[in-house]
Order: sequence, then C-alpha cells, then structure tokens
Amino acid sequence: MSDSPRADHGRGAPAAGGGTSEPAPQSRLLVLAGPTAVGKGTVSAYIRDHHPDVWVSVSATTRRPRPGEVDGVHYHFLDDAEFDRLVEQGEFLEWAVVHSAARYGTLRAPVLRALAAGRPALLEIDLQGARQVRARMPDALFVFLAPPSWEELVRRLVGRGTEDEAERARRLQTAKVELAAEPEFDVTVVNHEVRQTARQLITLLYSPSVQA
Ligand code: 5GP
Repeated sequence: MSDSPRADHGRGAPAAGGGTSEPAPQSRLLVLAGPTAVGKGTVSAYIRDHHPDVWVSVSATTRRPRPGEVDGVHYHFLDDAEFDRLVEQGEFLEWAVVHSAARYGTLRAPVLRALAAGRPALLEIDLQGARQVRARMPDALFVFLAPPSWEELVRRLVGRGTEDEAERARRLQTAKVELAAEPEFDVTVVNHEVRQTARQLITLLYSPSVQA
C-alpha cells in the first residue's frame, strides 16, 4: 500500500437514484480512523457542532447509550435483531464488531444522499470499517488520526475513565495493531488539539488535492 497522495480524490460518489443528466456535484467523502482513545469521536463531534456545512455520519450501533448520548444524534442505537435486519438488507456501507464488544456500522443511503447533494461528508469509524469503505469507495480520502506519542495515547485512555483496567489493557493491545496500519492511509493528521485538528480536516474536506 502507498501512503502517497492520489490525484483523484475530489470526485465523490455517484449520485444516488438517477433520472438526471446533470453531472454529480463535487463533494468529498473523508474517512477518519485511528487508534482507540486518540480523540476521533471528540474531533468529529467538534466538526458536527461547529461546521454544519459538513455532513457527519451518524453510525448505528448495538452498544448501549452512555449518559448524555441521544439516539439519532450520537448514534442510532439498535438491538441485535434490528442490526441483523439491516445487514441482511445490505443497508450498510460497512460494519464491524469493535473491541469485541458491540457492532457498529455506517448506513449507505445517507452517505450517498449527502454526497449527491454536494455536501462534504465525514465518517468516523474503526480500522476494519475504513478498509471496507476503501474497497467500496476508493475515491474517498482516508485520514489516519495519530496521537502525538504512545505515552499520550495511554494518558488519554486512562484519563477519560470510561473503561476498567482489563478493558484498557485490551484496548491498548488493539491500539498497537491499529497504529501499525497508518501507512494504509492517504494522510496522517496528528491530534494535538481538537480545534487545530478539526481545521486540518476541514481543509482536507474542501481541498481538491490531499495536501492540507
Ligand atoms: P464508542 O463506543 O467509544 O463510541 O466507539 C468505539 C469505536 O467504534 C470507535 O473506534 C469508533 O471509531 C468506532 N465506530 C463508531 N462508529 C462506527 C461505524 O459506523 N463503523 C465502524 N466500523 N466503527 C465505528
């Protein structure tokens, strides 16, 4: 795999539906992945709250809502049977079991609708999901969000306090594997600080070339 920039990122997806001879609007799909606790969720939430021009995908998941999470805003919270049904009906652009715990997936139709409407679109998903999107929508821009250092990643995971000791150890193990996948991505952005990272991603979302 190459980590060098490719020339054709600005094309976006074909318009869903049809019946029009108009060219598909220019829009970009940016897929953001990176190791656990690097801050992907914080960055995508920041973009959702501060850049309403960008369409941020709301994933479906079988995990339970955390306090403060709202169905349809942070996730579509589904039970196993509902998730199974969407898988069977081919509604997912990608889906994966994350941290051996719950299933997460991106619904295809809303992504295609956003791109067809000319809106830059952001998916914040795990590495397995990013690989699936790469296979299906190779024109998307794949961005790896990296921590400033391994020590900082550990500090963020411990600091957020949402996992117990055993779960933290398991996630750090996964993080090592995830960090090794960086060369598969088109661009790496180091997440020093959320606003700066968001700015870089916005630049990438609107840039016809991959360079920030
Ligand atoms: P959390 O449960 O902490 O919100 O998210 C756990 C992990 O699930 C994160 O690494 C996040 O990137 C990943 N994730 C969230 N939505 C999706 C999705 O739609 N597809 C995939 N493959 N992973 C997702």
